[in-house]
Amino acid sequence: MIVMKFGGSSVADAARLRHIGGIVQAYSDKKPAVVLSAMGDTTDHLLEAADAALQNGKTEIERVEKLHLAAVKNLKLRGELHCKMPIHEEIKKLLDELSRLLSGIALIRELTPRTKDYLVSFGERLSVRIAAAYFRSIGINARGFDAWELGFVSNSDFGHAELIEKSWKMIPEKIMPLIKTGVLPVITGFIAQDERGNITTLGRGGSDLSATMIAAACKADEVQVWKDVDGILTADPRIVKNARPVQNVSYEEASELAYFGAQVLHPRAMLPCMKTGTPVLVKNSYTLEAPGTRIGSESFTTTKNCAYVCAITARPGVTLVDIVSTRMLGQFGFLAEIFSAFARKSISVDMVATSEVSVSLTLDTAYDLGELKKELSKIASVEIKKGKAIISIIGDVRRSSEILARTFKICQLIGVPVQMISQGASKVNISFIVDDIEAEEVIKSLHIEFFGKLERLS
Ligand code: ASP
Ligand code: MG
Repeated sequence: MIVMKFGGSSVADAARLRHIGGIVQAYSDKKPAVVLSAMGDTTDHLLEAADAALQNGKTEIERVEKLHLAAVKNLKLRGELHCKMPIHEEIKKLLDELSRLLSGIALIRELTPRTKDYLVSFGERLSVRIAAAYFRSIGINARGFDAWELGFVSNSDFGHAELIEKSWKMIPEKIMPLIKTGVLPVITGFIAQDERGNITTLGRGGSDLSATMIAAACKADEVQVWKDVDGILTADPRIVKNARPVQNVSYEEASELAYFGAQVLHPRAMLPCMKTGTPVLVKNSYTLEAPGTRIGSESFTTTKNCAYVCAITARPGVTLVDIVSTRMLGQFGFLAEIFSAFARKSISVDMVATSEVSVSLTLDTAYDLGELKKELSKIASVEIKKGKAIISIIGDVRRSSEILARTFKICQLIGVPVQMISQGASKVNISFIVDDIEAEEVIKSLHIEFFGKLERLS
C-alpha cells in the first residue's frame, strides 16, 4: 500500500484534476490511499470571506462557489454520486452550509478559533468529493472521506491541533479494510475532529502531515508528495535557473530545509514517518519518470554532486535586533533578562549570536517591537534593523570550516557584508544574515561556488 498526496495547486481546477487522475490511475496496482488539499487558494479565500463577514457583515462566497461548481461542470460529474446523493447536489449542500455559517459570523461579528476551523474545513471537504467523483468517472473505484470518518482524532488546539495517540490505531483500522476490498479512499488533508466532535485543523500546510500520518500508521511502503518541481532542489528554482534535485535527504535534513524556507514539506510532517522509518518521496507531477527526492534514513551526502552541501535557502522578511549591555562587563543574568522580555511579549526568536556584552538576534518582521524596545532600553542600547534575510546552507558539518571559508570568500568577492553568523547545535546548518535586497545575488553566487556552472536545463 502507498499514500499519494496532492496539494492545492495540483487540484486547482478541472484540468489539474484530470492530470492527477492519470497519475493515480498509473499507480493503481500499488493500492494507493489519496490525500488532498483544498482546491487552489480556497483556504485563503475562506479566511478572507470570514474577515469580510467579521468586518463588514458581508457573506460573500462567490470565488469558492464558482471554482467548485465550474469543476463539477467541466469534469461532467452530474451523474456521479457521493453517499447516494448526486455530486452537484452534495456540493451545493456544502456551499449552503458554508454560506449559513458566514451569515452567522456576520450576524454576531465574532469568529472563535473553533468556528474558524469549521469554516476552513469546507475547502478540503469540497475537494475530496469532487476528486473522488471524477476518479470514479474514469473507472477508479474511489470514495471520498472526511478525515474523521477514517480515525483522525486530535486535541482541541484549534488552528494547530495535534493528532492524539489513538489515531495511530484507528486510522489503519478504518483504512486497511477499504484498501483490501479494492476501494481507493480519497481523504481530506489538514482536518480532524476532537473527541467532542468539533472540527479541528492541523495548521497551514497540514495536509502533508495527514498523508505522512496515514502512511506511518498503516505501515505503507511509501508516501508520495506530488509537486510541480523535481523534488527537493539545491536552491529555489525561481532564483537559480539550474537548481537541481537532491536524490536523498535524511528526515533531519528535510526538517531543517523546511524550517529555513525551502518549499519542501511542513516541518512537522516528517515526524510520523521518522518514527516508523517510512520513506517520503517528493515527486514532480509533470515528469513522472524523474526519480524525485527520497526522504528517509540516508543523508544527502550520498547524492552525486552534493558531497557536502545539500542546499542553499533564503528566508526573507527578517528583522535583526542588536542589543548591547549598558552595564559593566561580566554582569550575570543579562541574557536571562533579555530573553524573558521576549517571552513576556510572546515574540519568537530565530537566530542568536552573543558576545560578552552584546546579543544579536533575528525575528520575523511581522512583530511590533515598540514596547519591547522600551523595556530592553532600561538595561541595554537597542538597535532594530529591518529588511534582512537569513541565508542558510544545509551541509555536512564535518566540513564546516571549508564551507565557511568558501562562503565568506564569495561574499567578499561580490562585496556583500555578512552581518551575523550562527552555526547552531543542529548538525546540519550554517546561517548568516545579509540585507534582503542582496539575498538573491548571494544565493546565485554560492550556488555557482558549490554546485558549479551546470548545463542549463531547457
Ligand atoms: N489547505 C490547507 C492550507 O492551505 C492545507 C494544505 O494545503 O496543506 O493550508
Ligand atoms: Mg493549500
